[in-house]
Amino acid sequence: MVAESFTRRGHEVVIIDRETPGHGSTGASTAMLLWEIDRPLSELTQAYGFERAARCYTASLRAVQGLISLTRRYRIPCHIRDRHSLYLAVADSGKSLREESELRTRAGLPGVFLDHVSLLSRFEIARAGAILSPLAADADPVELTHELLKISVGRGASIRQANATAFESAGAKVIVGLDGGHEIEANRVVLCTGYVMPGIVRPTIQRPTSSWAIATEPQPQNLWPEDALIWEASHDYHYGRSTSDGRIIFGGEDDDSAIEPQARDALNPAKQERLRQALRALWPRSLDKVDYCWSGAFDTTKDGLPLIGAVPGQKNIFAAYGYGGNGITFSYLAAELLATLCSGGNSPLFDDFAIDRTA
Ligand SMILES: Cc1cc2nc3c(=O)[nH]c(=O)nc-3n(C[C@H](O)[C@H](O)[C@H](O)COP(=O)(O)OP(=O)(O)OC[C@H]3O[C@@H](n4cnc5c(N)ncnc54)[C@H](O)[C@@H]3O)c2cc1C
Repeated sequence: MVAESFTRRGHEVVIIDRETPGHGSTGASTAMLLWEIDRPLSELTQAYGFERAARCYTASLRAVQGLISLTRRYRIPCHIRDRHSLYLAVADSGKSLREESELRTRAGLPGVFLDHVSLLSRFEIARAGAILSPLAADADPVELTHELLKISVGRGASIRQANATAFESAGAKVIVGLDGGHEIEANRVVLCTGYVMPGIVRPTIQRPTSSWAIATEPQPQNLWPEDALIWEASHDYHYGRSTSDGRIIFGGEDDDSAIEPQARDALNPAKQERLRQALRALWPRSLDKVDYCWSGAFDTTKDGLPLIGAVPGQKNIFAAYGYGGNGITFSYLAAELLATLCSGGNSPLFDDFAIDRTA
């Protein structure tokens, strides 16, 4: 997304990736393109005030809209589908969801509150309530990545397979040292290294964790109404969506006790079982057979917001780190904000998403 955004504005771009692009966390992503942020608007309002919280939500809404229109403008074949999202009450949180819905309306955000009865009759889901929101989407994240890279390369970008091991930013240019001894000299560097942050970025607001997902066998006859994107109103939530071949993808079970890939993989059988049970509780009609189970690094920030902007103490080095359940939405936002910044613009969002902010 960053390469596409920068090449669209006429910048000359070199992409460095030590692996095949799309094989990082993007390959593990369940790719629900939500504009609703992992932290409710009410919680962000308590932390930062209404104006700033509403600005973050509005930016996130515009990012999903921008990403959808980008895929349509360039006819990107990534199975993108417009979706509603259903933000479900957990236990008796219906009242706080109603208040959240009213606050969102005050911020000019779309969506309606469904009480227990209307939720049950429209979606056949028995919870205390939900917020139903338009303008979300889902997509194939790897195809999206590869197509955006193709577009960028078509505009002159080049891709180098290399490990970036050193960054020197004191001079007029940034020097990126690669393993093997080569160096790349650039006017600016944007770090989009997913959950593997180089040592020069030291946020205090970010927390490493792991997340799991399952995909059931295809069961198009058993899906919940309207193929909505479903997620729960709690910090460690479960979420689910369907795929174009009728599977249910269901995820969550975040766990910060297993960060290394081997430790994470060892938990797969137990996490798969917990996800299967949670899916069964949410949607009893679902078939039980799980075809795939996988996990990935899934860092979060305390406030649910991304890390976007100048890397403190590093001249002309910028970060594009979208975390949590909005990683893809925030990546698009980062790509647009940083390309605008490097073309002479600015935005108050750089303060909201500052790498060195404290929550
Ligand atoms: C299980 C799971 C479910 C998720 N679900 C959702 C969801 O539903 N919706 C959503 O919006 N987001 C979701 N996310 C988050 C989202 O997928 C990520 O935020 C997003 O894919 C990150 O993309 P990225 O390109 O920044 O990072 P990555 O895809 O991880 O790519 C980073 C790249 O940087 C390269 N790299 C790293 N360090 C170096 C270096 N030193 N030198 C050279 N190359 C380097 C890596 O090789 C990699 O290719 C999910 C993530 C996971 C794991």
